Amino acid sequence: RDLVKTFPGRRSRTGRPGAPIRAVDGVSFDVGAGETLGLVGESGCGKSTTGRMIVRLIDPTSGSVTFDGTEIGGLTQAQLRPHRRHLQMVFQDPYSSLNPRQTVARIISEPLLVQGSGAADARKRAAELMELVGLIPEHLDRYPHEFSGGQAQRIGIARSLATSPRLVVADEPVSALDVSIQAQVVNLMERLQDELGLAYIFIAHDLSVVKRVCDRVAVMYLGRIVEIGDKHQVYGNPAHPYTKALLSAVPLPDPAAERARERIVLLGDPPSPADPPSGCGFHPRCPKAREICRTERPLLRIAGPGGREAACHFPEN
Ligand code: SF4
Ligand code: MG
Repeated sequence: RDLVKTFPGRRSRTGRPGAPIRAVDGVSFDVGAGETLGLVGESGCGKSTTGRMIVRLIDPTSGSVTFDGTEIGGLTQAQLRPHRRHLQMVFQDPYSSLNPRQTVARIISEPLLVQGSGAADARKRAAELMELVGLIPEHLDRYPHEFSGGQAQRIGIARSLATSPRLVVADEPVSALDVSIQAQVVNLMERLQDELGLAYIFIAHDLSVVKRVCDRVAVMYLGRIVEIGDKHQVYGNPAHPYTKALLSAVPLPDPAAERARERIVLLGDPPSPADPPSGCGFHPRCPKAREICRTERPLLRIAGPGGREAACHFPEN
């Protein structure tokens, strides 16, 4: 609820501190048990920072994170320990997120050892997890570089599952992989979700991958959610001009449809979160902007059927 993350601004050459950067500027959403929420937006929109605050890899500046009725946003790392096992993360680059000097057995066991498991039990569990993610348990004593990118990401997934979490935040989990491997890893994640009843927050800039895996989707721009709702509504009939523009850039499989459709090209780059525009943060790039957009910040409200919400003074539908 109302998650905010502010980073200190860069110092100028004269040593004066720059304006603080609001990387995440008041984000609220819920994720149900066993559900997948897609979190999409261009790089720098605050989606990774949001995901990291939820698993408490970084501390929120303000706002709350409630897991299963317990407020965990303000807990110290020691207080967090009993909850930690329920919340895990999968990272974008499997190689840089796996310690190259540790065996796979050690990497996958780590979260269990932290939770107090004995070494023999942790190793046994690591072997089971290898099998669960489609790797060969006998390869436990190998090192990350001995695996392909797709296999390495399976190891990252196995590690995230070691403590039997209920929520996994996956930050661009397939973006670093070859396209031919992406589908396999996505299939694996979907199968694991069915088998283990996991909830995912699936962060990605690739809208087609998110469309495939998520139930609901939240679109972020400049640290805020601009549209959130059921994926069929958001993808089929976007209410926010930014969502519309993002979707218009996704290639359609049917060439005739591809030629016929309207492409919305956004002007300029996303503004800097150190100096966000007044009113609606999207107004300098929005084809529908009017005077009120420059002065009044639109809040998320119901826009269209099915409870989907958009933060826009003039939503579609
Ligand atoms: Fe565009 Fe105005 Fe809606 Fe912002 S509030 S997205 S500027 S129409
Ligand atoms: Mg990111």
